[in-house]
Amino acid sequence: MKNIPYRYYLPEEKMPKAWYNLRSAMPEKPDPLINPGTGQPVTADDLRPVFCDELIAQELDNDTPEFEIPKPILDMYRIYRPSPIVRAYRLEEALQTPAHIYYKFEGNNTSGSHKLNSALAQAYYAKAQGMKALTTETGAGQWGTALAEACAAFGLELTVYMVKGSYNQKPYRKDVIRTFGASVIASPSDTTQAGRAILEKDPNTTGSLGCAISEAVEKAVTTPDCRYVLGSVLNQVLLHQSVIGLESYEAMLAFDEYPDIIVGCAGGGSNLGGLIAPFMRDTLTGRREGTRYVAVEPASCPSLTRGQYAYDFCDTGKITPMAKMYTLGSGFIPSANHAGGLRYHGMSPLLSKLYHDGRMEAVSYEQTQVFDAAVQFARLETILPAPESAHAIRAAMDEAVRCRESGEAKTILFGLTGTGYFDMAAYASYLDKTMGDYVPRNDEILAR
Ligand SMILES: *Cc1c(COP(=O)(O)O)cnc(C)c1O
Repeated sequence: MKNIPYRYYLPEEKMPKAWYNLRSAMPEKPDPLINPGTGQPVTADDLRPVFCDELIAQELDNDTPEFEIPKPILDMYRIYRPSPIVRAYRLEEALQTPAHIYYKFEGNNTSGSHKLNSALAQAYYAKAQGMKALTTETGAGQWGTALAEACAAFGLELTVYMVKGSYNQKPYRKDVIRTFGASVIASPSDTTQAGRAILEKDPNTTGSLGCAISEAVEKAVTTPDCRYVLGSVLNQVLLHQSVIGLESYEAMLAFDEYPDIIVGCAGGGSNLGGLIAPFMRDTLTGRREGTRYVAVEPASCPSLTRGQYAYDFCDTGKITPMAKMYTLGSGFIPSANHAGGLRYHGMSPLLSKLYHDGRMEAVSYEQTQVFDAAVQFARLETILPAPESAHAIRAAMDEAVRCRESGEAKTILFGLTGTGYFDMAAYASYLDKTMGDYVPRNDEILAR
């Protein structure tokens, strides 16, 4: 083997002390959230019943480049960060590619994904503002797990509305969440008006993310000292996830490399937005040219590749502000794809804007192609990836094969966002060859 390190751990003193706000480098900013009641951009006052003050300030600030990470959050980050960045030599060899492939692995913490980076920040600010409790929704369960850990760390009560389908399918997921002290309610439930209304119409429904959001928001605004938090899509979440990109940037310097291609899976856009942040700064400010950015999404929920760039609601119940984003329509119900974390009808307004301006590319893959890559990667690199993360693996492998064909030794960096140990039903259906691919028709996508 070559005499270069496999992995690089940043020394603790080089860990980022501030998050980086990519909006500050954008010549044109993402379009603002709109209050559907007034038709005007949302104000801090509009958001105050739902979000904490400091998070509102982060959400609305397009100009401040850096936000200092408060010490209690840094102390929690130090338990599991810096996360490793690994050169995938064995994958390179198997693909016979001259490309250098690196991945930044966010699945080493006990929540199993990058979502803990923002969960800790959001829980900390809620506690600092004197809140007693938080509510949220969870689909696949990664976000609910991460937030339950964060609330346990900072001493907050948490109610998680978990989409009934996954509540029943992934029983251990809810037990992990309960172990960290949160309560889990299968949504739709009879604990909220929104839930009761839906149950009345369809008592046997398996629920949806949109419905769980409606329940969680209702619970937050009707409970004293309680706020609602969201695990992706919002500017504040991308800001917190910049810690992934900042660490990667330092590590690539240590490897004496700079990525030519950066690849990440995109559900609501938070891990990818965080991973690219400092590199995209270089691109936008002209410090560096020629870097490509690739978002990877499931063919069953193709918001960037087949959606419209338009103002739309962030939830199915239409109680949230409207965001300008690539969207499949807030009424879009994705098929039962196994990459639960990528089943969102929209995309972060920040990434949507970069994509619209031609700064990013997007590709989509069908689920069996993604699991082909996941299994190959697991056998070579000894990490069992989350199905979401495997979308990035698939695209990175395809880029590496193109390098083999063109003979170019490009440097590829991809985000490996989580582990797949709670997704064994998905792996089982792939291995048993019962996994199907579903690609929505145009009329399903445009239905709003
Ligand atoms: C939630 C999740 C994603 C997708 O969310 P983004 O906000 O797009 O990053 C990707 N990978 C894993 C493991 C997740 O849990």
